[in-house]
Amino acid sequence: MNASVLVINCGSSSIKYALVPSEPDRPRLAGLAERLGGGDAQLRGVDSRGESFTQALGEADHTRALEAILDRLEGRRPFAVGHRIVHGGESFTRAALIDDDVVDAIERTSALAPLHNPANLEGVAATRRLFPDLPQVAVFDTAFHQSLPPRAYRYALPDALYRDHAIRRYGFHGTSHAYVSRRADRLGGLGGGAWLTAHLGNGCSTCAVWQGQSLDTSMGLTPLEGLAMGTRSGDVDPGLHAHLSRQLGWSLDRIDEVLNRNSGLLGLSGLTNDMRELEAAEAQGHPGAALAIEVFCYRIAKSLAALSCALPRLDGLVFTGGIGENSALVRERVIGLLPHFGLQLNRTVNSETIRGREGRIDAGGRQLWVIPTDEEGQIADETRQRLVQKGRNHT
Ligand code: AMP
Repeated sequence: MNASVLVINCGSSSIKYALVPSEPDRPRLAGLAERLGGGDAQLRGVDSRGESFTQALGEADHTRALEAILDRLEGRRPFAVGHRIVHGGESFTRAALIDDDVVDAIERTSALAPLHNPANLEGVAATRRLFPDLPQVAVFDTAFHQSLPPRAYRYALPDALYRDHAIRRYGFHGTSHAYVSRRADRLGGLGGGAWLTAHLGNGCSTCAVWQGQSLDTSMGLTPLEGLAMGTRSGDVDPGLHAHLSRQLGWSLDRIDEVLNRNSGLLGLSGLTNDMRELEAAEAQGHPGAALAIEVFCYRIAKSLAALSCALPRLDGLVFTGGIGENSALVRERVIGLLPHFGLQLNRTVNSETIRGREGRIDAGGRQLWVIPTDEEGQIADETRQRLVQKGRNHT
């Protein structure tokens, strides 16, 4: 049976795609169309033999790029399309079969994610035009965290800001935290364990998962809250905005730009947001690189310790994302900052566990896992599950 799902992650000027077959051993066709809307759009990807290609698309918009992607599917027809949608607000607690009402509801949530949701919807509209007969499913980055209890999702702000303006913590990276925690349940033989998961990539977040449910997470109303990230500051004093405005005369747009694009590892080091380069620079004695790594690791450990309050017990920690999967140094330092967690790191296995490899890196005691995230696979699974449930509902 053909159960391949075409997973689409549509940004304002890019479309990431993957054709995910239901059989895990069949190759995925995947790639990225970039610089859409300008004059020099291009499509890069891999074919079924694992060979890379690059195709110039000229003045392509999202629809033209999707047509080019279609041509790269080597005649394989998906049975459904799964869309990554960044913000589902409180309307979506799980994946949703897309119809006009769902599109309207996503549009209403756009005020909470003005950079992401409109771009995601552009992809939905183009895909619905190109594949009018295929079911389309929206999978939300926020949905996994809709199980947070009020004590975790409410800010200590006037009630009306929540009631009338939906100001609360939502959390992001939900597909990644859901995937790695379920995988840890399976690998660890726990069947619904108590995990702390750390997704450490360009964006970074932590999550406390108990019996497959997110109970707390480090990101909030926006993906800026929480950990120090590649270029994002993470938590700062909420009084900082007023201070920068009054003392330096900065506009809100400028503050937003600095906190999102010029901060984090890049801002602290004055060098780069790439952990590989920072590790190399620290080894050469670069003080900014050393400080950036130190703050980064400390903030992760502090966040994990805080999130442990959400769990009734702790079975283990999971690292994922570009840094979590690759940086033995970051993992070792984070674990070293949590001596009261009773973790025992197997240093040899830790240093040998790199991208693409799943590995258990503890030497006994609480479990420590490196699990490569698979957001496309998770979106494809949730798409299939949603359609099966829909079928059941109709019978
Ligand atoms: P992601 O957003 O999950 O693709 O992660 C991207 C980040 O992973 C990059 O910015 C790098 O900082 C980091 N990364 C990738 N490979 C390595 C590596 N070998 N060692 C340390 N960090 C890495």
